[in-house]
Amino acid sequence: MTYRQRRESCNGSVVGVVLLLALTAGTGRAIDLDSARLIDLTHPFDETTIYWPTARHFQLEVVAHGKTPGGWWYAANNFCAAEHGGTHMDAPAHFARGGATTDRVPVTAGIGPLVKVDVHAQADQNPDYRLTADDLHTWERANGPIPRGAIVVMDSGWAARWPDPQRYLGTAAAGDTANLHFPGFSREAVEFLVHERDINAIGVDTPSIDYGPSQDFIVHQILNGANKPGFENLANLARVPPHGATLIALPMKIEGGSGGPVRAIALLP
Ligand SMILES: [Zn+2]
Repeated sequence: MTYRQRRESCNGSVVGVVLLLALTAGTGRAIDLDSARLIDLTHPFDETTIYWPTARHFQLEVVAHGKTPGGWWYAANNFCAAEHGGTHMDAPAHFARGGATTDRVPVTAGIGPLVKVDVHAQADQNPDYRLTADDLHTWERANGPIPRGAIVVMDSGWAARWPDPQRYLGTAAAGDTANLHFPGFSREAVEFLVHERDINAIGVDTPSIDYGPSQDFIVHQILNGANKPGFENLANLARVPPHGATLIALPMKIEGGSGGPVRAIALLP
């Protein structure tokens, strides 16, 4: 249905116009799905999926898997997991009282120009590396200003360690949050993005937008406090260019949720 047909059938409704603008405003440009190449940025959900050491891991319970008495095939499962594990979204409600819950985060918040900041070299030297405001300035010098509606993603190379919890988290012990080591964003970097740029969200290829040893989760506090979501445990960022791709990360719509599993993809230019 074309826009004109839609307007006529809605009898001149202004709502149609507003929705159309809102869907494209977040990215600042139209998305051409026909010409795009897609990269899946999602780790699989199974018994090896990495969760926070204190969180419930993914469990799949087979309900049916075989031929029915009627002769046709039937397969179905139950699953159970924490919201925060595998490739997932942190809703603003995760670290901000009154922040948007998963169902209330606009779908457009997970859609935007993918700004990939490569900190492989720094993370190789220091597993507790925090992406700095200088790293963002360096990206802008090479690629131009971080665009409006961007989703700024840290690529530390950590996805290559998946799904080994010892190497990915720093510990393989259930409940052990005292020995977490992995890179994240710094306070200065997220403050710059929230206050000096107009971003939709941030993302990381590690378990948390705050680095492993964090005790105050200040990056979560600042980002969620600005009512913006974060995306964690992203995969395959090595196959995404520093700029020009579009990220689409859509969470399971958990009513009242603090986050949830996401299927994230990059559309390459
Ligand atoms: Zn989370």
